[in-house]
Amino acid sequence: MEKRELVVIGAGPAGLTASIYGRRSGLDVLVLEKGVPGGQINLTDEIENWTGVIHASGPELAESFRKHAEHFGPEFRDAEVQKIEVKDGSKFVVTDNGTIEAEAIIVATGAKFRKLGVPGEEEFTGRGVSYCAVCDGAFFEEQEVAVIGGGNTAVEEALYLTQFASKVYIIHRRDSFRADKVAVERALSNDKIEVIWNTVVKEIAGDDMVTHLVLHNVKTQETSELPVAGVFVFVGMEPNAKFLGDMVDVAPGGWIKTNDRMETSVEGVFAAGDVRDKYLRQVITAAGDGATAAMAAYAYIAEQLHLRQKVFEPEHTFIFLYSSIDESQMGLASQLEELKSQVQDLVLIDGYKNSRMTEKLGIEEMPMMLELSKGKILKAEKVASAEEAKRFVGLS
Ligand SMILES: Cc1cc2nc3c(=O)[nH]c(=O)nc-3n(C[C@H](O)[C@H](O)[C@H](O)COP(=O)(O)OP(=O)(O)OC[C@H]3O[C@@H](n4cnc5c(N)ncnc54)[C@H](O)[C@@H]3O)c2cc1C
Repeated sequence: MEKRELVVIGAGPAGLTASIYGRRSGLDVLVLEKGVPGGQINLTDEIENWTGVIHASGPELAESFRKHAEHFGPEFRDAEVQKIEVKDGSKFVVTDNGTIEAEAIIVATGAKFRKLGVPGEEEFTGRGVSYCAVCDGAFFEEQEVAVIGGGNTAVEEALYLTQFASKVYIIHRRDSFRADKVAVERALSNDKIEVIWNTVVKEIAGDDMVTHLVLHNVKTQETSELPVAGVFVFVGMEPNAKFLGDMVDVAPGGWIKTNDRMETSVEGVFAAGDVRDKYLRQVITAAGDGATAAMAAYAYIAEQLHLRQKVFEPEHTFIFLYSSIDESQMGLASQLEELKSQVQDLVLIDGYKNSRMTEKLGIEEMPMMLELSKGKILKAEKVASAEEAKRFVGLS
């Protein structure tokens, strides 16, 4: 079976950045992508908040990210990941194009638009209903369209649509936008944009193509019809994480929970970018997550290799396990450093930093001396002094 050091799932800003950091750390990196590299930014015409670039189109930025990643030579492969399996501590990425064993995995699969869930939405998708203004806006030259939603994406995409449409209605269920001030001011000062507040869509109707929306005002309870040729739905996102089943812990909505090293609840599986539970889903935060995840994955792989060689593989070894956040244990560790010249197979390990290994060995207290054979504990003893440690290794 194919075996790789780091497998990155998804080539959006998070995955591409992770591949750059992974390669620059010397890892063998495989990036799996089921669609177009660059991810969601391919769907937007304007990015004005990527530091250092005042304005770029999404596809331009996506292209520069991809070229940057390619420069450091990760392998890119077209594949859709169907699941991740963990068996006896080994991790496998199952794709529609074979299975790969990985030392570490970064899930950077991003998010997708949430559906409205009203009658007519499925039926008219591609026939007037769209989730991408950049992809479909030009089809509505001199026609009236509606944008559903009240966040940044809804307001910015409504502005983009004014290039083509004769009128753009923004239908929002509340009486104010969640979008940022600059975007809102631009939208409200555009003559082609009209906001319909406190209103939800009950139905998307038409014959061959969309002809109108059935609206419901949540304040007055009135129902009305709005003739439009197109509907652009921007009512939030959901994570692309269903393929993981229940293997990692998630927050409400299915967003993957991580700590600040991007570690998920499964050892060696990291998550970065929009797919994880976080405050701000943007290109810049996705890239930052990707960098962190790759560096944490690098540390994890190095640690696993070190531990395998020092703890789990040797025929015989003595281990002193200590905690680096305890001053007296640190003092004892530096005394025992001197013992290493007399006891060749003595290894000192910071059990605080290597907590997963400590768990694996079933050790709950530190400082502790262990005698192991191929990872199996032959003897374990809590030690409080260098003398006790010496006795344990048979030196006094
Ligand atoms: C219309 C729109 C406008 C936006 N405007 C801005 C903006 O102005 N500024 C800004 O900072 N952000 C903007 N964003 C948000 C920004 O695009 C995202 O925050 C960012 O792309 C997240 O990056 P990511 O790498 O986490 O995920 P994504 O960009 O979603 O990339 C994930 C990648 O994973 C792939 N993938 C998913 N599942 C699988 C699988 N099972 N197997 C293999 N591959 C898989 C996908 O095909 C995709 O390429 C916008 C988003 C949209 C949709």
